[in-house]
Amino acid sequence: MLTTRFAPSPTGFLHIGGLRTALYSYLYARKNGGKFLLRIEDTDLKRNSQEATIAIREAFNWCGLDYDGEVEYQSKRFDIYKKYIDQLLKDGKAYKCYTTQEELAQMRAEAEANKQRPKYDGRYRDFTGTPPQGIEPVIRIKAPLDGVIEFTDGVKGYIKFNCEDILDDFIIARSDGSPTYNFCVVIDDALMGVTHIIRGDDHLSNTPKQIILYEALGFKIPEFFHVAMINGSDGAKLSKRHGATDVMEYKNMGYLPEALLNFLVRLGWSHGDDEIFSMHQMLELFDPYNLSKSASTYNPSKLEWLNAHYIKTLPFERLADDMLYFGLDFRAINKGQMLLDLLRERSKTLLELKASALAIINQPTNYDQNAVKKFINDDNKLLLSEFANSLGNANMDAKAVEEMTNEFLTQKGKKLKDLAQPIRIAITGSAVSPSIFEVIEFIGLDELKSRIQNFLKSL
Ligand code: GLU
Repeated sequence: MLTTRFAPSPTGFLHIGGLRTALYSYLYARKNGGKFLLRIEDTDLKRNSQEATIAIREAFNWCGLDYDGEVEYQSKRFDIYKKYIDQLLKDGKAYKCYTTQEELAQMRAEAEANKQRPKYDGRYRDFTGTPPQGIEPVIRIKAPLDGVIEFTDGVKGYIKFNCEDILDDFIIARSDGSPTYNFCVVIDDALMGVTHIIRGDDHLSNTPKQIILYEALGFKIPEFFHVAMINGSDGAKLSKRHGATDVMEYKNMGYLPEALLNFLVRLGWSHGDDEIFSMHQMLELFDPYNLSKSASTYNPSKLEWLNAHYIKTLPFERLADDMLYFGLDFRAINKGQMLLDLLRERSKTLLELKASALAIINQPTNYDQNAVKKFINDDNKLLLSEFANSLGNANMDAKAVEEMTNEFLTQKGKKLKDLAQPIRIAITGSAVSPSIFEVIEFIGLDELKSRIQNFLKSL
């Protein structure tokens, strides 16, 4: 069965680069009816692994990604790794190496002096003598001494490494018996039945080592897809500086998971000129063989644009649910759906949506003084006051409010532009809001009258 996995090292949160490779792996597994597994690579950072799982689960939940089966923890699999190390020793494919730190330092110094790549010289590779006393050996794999390691990467195409240039008998277990990173990855991927490994191309240099281990262990080599990095708009590798932190921070900033996933799928993959992809479309169209070979650029305004798109188009019920997280229950607000529909057209984030909703729901406590200076004068103060006095108290829909306002303006020989901004400031405290007629329908005429009076008092 086609099986992919996401194998984060536990850092306590999931960053968006990680979410992107998780998404690619998820999509490829799900579209093929395969399995998507989660493994926490916690051999070095055991203490964080539970928190990391909770954080990943939280982020996956928010994004609607799910994994199959139980989470695997590398820290719980040492017996398994040991068994395979013993087997390699028994088969003569790995060996104990007693080289001391001093000897290694000397090898390094000599290589540097000769301008060569520092490399373990293989002195214990075929050692049959009596091992030196008092040294706990490391275990090294017998890597090929020459020839090439070649494979076809699903993203990068044909890849070839010269064994002589890049490999030596690398360590698979340290002197305390703990297995090394590349060894654990191979054992886990093989035993978990992973058929397709999609990961960042910062792991490309690990791949020849892993292939040597697959071969030594007699495991089938999976397909590899090394995904190009995401760069910030300044060309540097994406980091916290570019706002690339915890996935859940995007939730706090008012982004929708649809927008974030859509944004991430496009960072490294495309389908014609299309920009908008629902989960359904991603599942239909995504193909890791079409991933881009070159790095992509993180463009925050694109994310905003996508977020605005999803805020505009998702069903009311869905947005109302998400707004609960920000403490606003649109279902409990009289004409809440109307308000949300009014604001969703002009909100780039749910935080903006919240702020503009509160600006309409609540009477302003202060007024934007720049707007007051710019738009209020003695003429329209009087007009505003006359308008307030002319208001009845029967509730009206936006259209009726518009007609009534136009009638009032005609009588006074004035234009809408003489009244619109003053009304806006009176209602919301600022000169920005959606159509005033709809806002008036929402708050009602009594409330409008009271806000205008309060505003006039404040001047
Ligand atoms: N644990 C590695 C990381 O977080 C991923 C290893 C892999 O995907 O092979 O970068």
